[in-house]
Amino acid sequence: MTELTKLSAVELSEKLQKKEVSAEEVTKSHFEGIEKLDNKVKSFLYLDKEGAIAQAKEVDKRRKDNQELSALAGIPLALKDVLTQKGIPTTCGSKILEGWIPPYDSTVVTKLKNAGIIILGKTNMDEFAMGSSTENSAFHPTHNPWDLTRIPGGSGGGSSASLAAFEAPLALGTDTGGSIRQPAAVTGTVGVKPTYGAVSRYGMIAFSSSLDQGGPCARTVLDAALLHEAIAGHDSKDSTSISAPTPKVVEAAKRADIKGLKVGVIKELQGDGYQKGVLNRFNESIELLSSLGAEIVEVSCPSFEYALAAYYLIAPSECSSNLARFDAMRYGLRVGEGDAESVMNATREAGFGREVKRRIILGTYALSSGYYDAYYGSAQKVRTLIMQDYAKAFAGVDVLVSPTAPTTAFKIGEKSNDPLAMYLNDVATIPVNLAGICGMSLPSGLADEDNLPTGFQIMAPAMEDQR
Ligand code: GLN
Repeated sequence: MTELTKLSAVELSEKLQKKEVSAEEVTKSHFEGIEKLDNKVKSFLYLDKEGAIAQAKEVDKRRKDNQELSALAGIPLALKDVLTQKGIPTTCGSKILEGWIPPYDSTVVTKLKNAGIIILGKTNMDEFAMGSSTENSAFHPTHNPWDLTRIPGGSGGGSSASLAAFEAPLALGTDTGGSIRQPAAVTGTVGVKPTYGAVSRYGMIAFSSSLDQGGPCARTVLDAALLHEAIAGHDSKDSTSISAPTPKVVEAAKRADIKGLKVGVIKELQGDGYQKGVLNRFNESIELLSSLGAEIVEVSCPSFEYALAAYYLIAPSECSSNLARFDAMRYGLRVGEGDAESVMNATREAGFGREVKRRIILGTYALSSGYYDAYYGSAQKVRTLIMQDYAKAFAGVDVLVSPTAPTTAFKIGEKSNDPLAMYLNDVATIPVNLAGICGMSLPSGLADEDNLPTGFQIMAPAMEDQR
């Protein structure tokens, strides 16, 4: 029965539609896999076995009654713990939310439920999605199934590891600076950051609201596309939600012909700091595209040099504001005694981890009077320059490509005491968020040095996700 866990969502869907298996069997087989593996991989923070099986039984009943069902009805999914699910503990990887039970579903979860997708549980993540390794989780690190001594990427390392370990065929992530794409790259899976505003942020615990975007994670492109269409769409509860139809990504994922596609290779996203084996696989992928009829050109995006610096002013600034709501009065943890300010201070001191505190301090400083123009203001100008670089580049090509991450999965602990080294892992993914465009990571073979997965990133203009 565990063999069911090796199938893609599309393959499982065929079996379900032919009534060769039930959603209950599919769900139980994934829990069997999780019980066997997750004590080592540690993808999950919370499992909802009872709820998932009840949901599966409901799908089976509806199928038996010949009710109309979505293509993904009965398919299990692992949910990043940044998304609220009514009645299910949601921590966002933080002690400050430990014990909080959200009274409402995020829009993404509502859409998953409406599609009959079975939510297995909540996956581990860097605290408030700040990190690139999942080591900043307040609870435990997650291990990369390819090599348990290594990181599964971050912040969505629980989601990527669950896919690579065959604990789930689908997972949900959020991507503020790379948290869907970099974990996909280092676990050999597929991760998509849709155009900013395509997936509702309602019920997605905010880190940096002008950058945060939910998206699909899977083991195949078609599975990711199906999930993308299931979760995207306008939502009046999110003020930055796009009110236009979702690009037809499923149809695009079924198309194989790339003859004449103009592919731009970004000069600035390779070379120094990129592992040799990562570049070797990247160059082979370019040759493959060329042999299939794509036209390859090199393009330059000179402002990308400043993207990381701009991101580490904008994201902490927004986070310092967003995280002010964790004040010991409304959610989760409360420690200390005395007046309100003492309780707030004591709770925030006890509840937030080191990286979160670092970002709050950086962001508060960058926004403070006298420094605002020099830091936050300058970073916003760089953001505009990056958008202009993309606009210029896309005037000549259909898509842009780069390696997703400069290295393969590093060892757990290797970069924990060097925040800058950790930040540098997102050098190729961050420009996409700053510009609000879409990007995805595809498996691109194993690096020569360490036999670990590498990722190939494809970027397209906003609202052109189907490219
Ligand atoms: N690693 C980046 C950061 O730490 C991106 C995180 C994310 O996309 N949520 O901010």
